[in-house]
Amino acid sequence: MWGMKNRAHIWLERLSSLRLSLLRQAATKVGLQAIHVEILEYLEKSNKYSNTGQALSEFLGVTKGSISQSLKLLEEKELILREPCANDKRYSRLSLTKKGLDALSKVQKEIPDLPDMGDQIEQSFRAVLLSWQTKNKMRTFGLCITCKYNEQLENGKFLCRLTEEYLTRPDTQKICREHEFEATSLKKIKLSLG
Ligand code: SF4
Repeated sequence: MWGMKNRAHIWLERLSSLRLSLLRQAATKVGLQAIHVEILEYLEKSNKYSNTGQALSEFLGVTKGSISQSLKLLEEKELILREPCANDKRYSRLSLTKKGLDALSKVQKEIPDLPDMGDQIEQSFRAVLLSWQTKNKMRTFGLCITCKYNEQLENGKFLCRLTEEYLTRPDTQKICREHEFEATSLKKIKLSLG
C-alpha cells in the first residue's frame, strides 16, 4: 500500500495507463502498435544529436534489442528512414518520412487533448520527472533552449557550446540527449517540489 507521501504514484500510474490505452486504440487505426507511435513521436521531437537507436532506447527506457524489430517494421512501412551517420559510418541516423509524419499526425488527432493544467501543475510534473531522472542517473532529454550549453549570440544566432555548432531557432525547440540544465534552473525546478 502506498503511503500518503507516495500517492502521486497512483495518479501517475493511472494517467500513464490511460494514455497508453488511448495510444494503443489510436495506433491500431493506422495499423501500428503503441511502441511504433512512441518511436515516431520521439523522432519528430528529437534533434540531430539524438536521432539514433541508442538515444531512442535511453529515452524509452528499453534495450536497443527490444526496439530493433519495431524499427525494422517502421522502415519496411517506409515511415522512417535510416541513413549512415556522416561522421561515423558505424552509426545510423533515423528520421521520419513524409508518410511517417502523416501517420503520426493521424494518431495524434485521435487522442483527446488533456485539459489545460495550468503552469503550477506543469511545473510540479517537471520537478517530479527531474527528481526521478536525477535519482536514477538518467538523461534529462530536455528542450535545447533550456540547456546550459545553449548560447544566444549577439547576432541572434544560437550556438551549442558542447559541440561548437550553430543551431537554428527550430533546433532549439527540440529535445536533446546531451541536454543539461544550468545549476540555477535545476535548483529552481527542484524547489517547486516543495
Ligand atoms: S545546447 Fe544542449 S541541448 Fe542544445 S544541442 Fe547542445 S547539448 Fe544539445
